[in-house]
Amino acid sequence: MESIRQRILSIRAELPPEVTLIAVSKTKPEAMLEEAYHDADQRHFGENRVPELVRKAEGLAGDFVWHAIGHLQRNKVKLLMPHVAWIHAIDSERLLDEVQRRAAEAMVENLRQEPVQALLQVHIAEEEAKFGLSHDECERWLDSGALEALDGMVVRGLMGMATFTDNERQIGQEFRGLRALYDRLAPGRPQFDTLSMGMSGDWRIALEEGTTMIRVGSSIFGARTPHNTEPS
Ligand SMILES: *Cc1c(COP(=O)(O)O)cnc(C)c1O
Repeated sequence: MESIRQRILSIRAELPPEVTLIAVSKTKPEAMLEEAYHDADQRHFGENRVPELVRKAEGLAGDFVWHAIGHLQRNKVKLLMPHVAWIHAIDSERLLDEVQRRAAEAMVENLRQEPVQALLQVHIAEEEAKFGLSHDECERWLDSGALEALDGMVVRGLMGMATFTDNERQIGQEFRGLRALYDRLAPGRPQFDTLSMGMSGDWRIALEEGTTMIRVGSSIFGARTPHNTEPS
């Protein structure tokens, strides 16, 4: 069987330098994260459950860059603040306000040095259950100016998850739509430079459609047991 190092290196070999690989380590033991960190110089890690992210961040030494990738509940935001670098799933004004408030507070208390790097989650899949803003909501929100000059956080771009299907044409269309939205929104917004799309099953399609950040779990760390795939 291939090692974690080999799997990471072979994915990275296909990525242009401007695309960041996030190793999605949810449900996986700390030893596997350490292996990725030490053997493959992996720095970006994604978790979707807040207590698990906090536990790993507190237990692991080094310059890990933590990404909260899944749907996030407001009452968990404060716990994340000492550790999280990126939040991928801002999908409501109330969540944004809470991140802003808690991040600013954590910076005053010296619990964090850098603002939170945030992405707006856009709904692109045909499934109802997935979270996210519509294209229109997203565009209106940005055009309102409400996302500029935030306290303790910076909106860096968009995130989306394609429909869970084998139909590559459909996945490609969904990613292309998200890239088009991103291309409409980015001009004139210098900090808006990140598009997070692509997972184990579809990152090559996302790459073709112009992703800048892929979130890959099972292709690096192996399959997960189903009970723990729910968002926090
Ligand atoms: C679990 C998860 C991933 C990674 O999924 P894999 O299919 O294992 O690569 C990516 N993004 C989000 C939001 C996730 O919850």
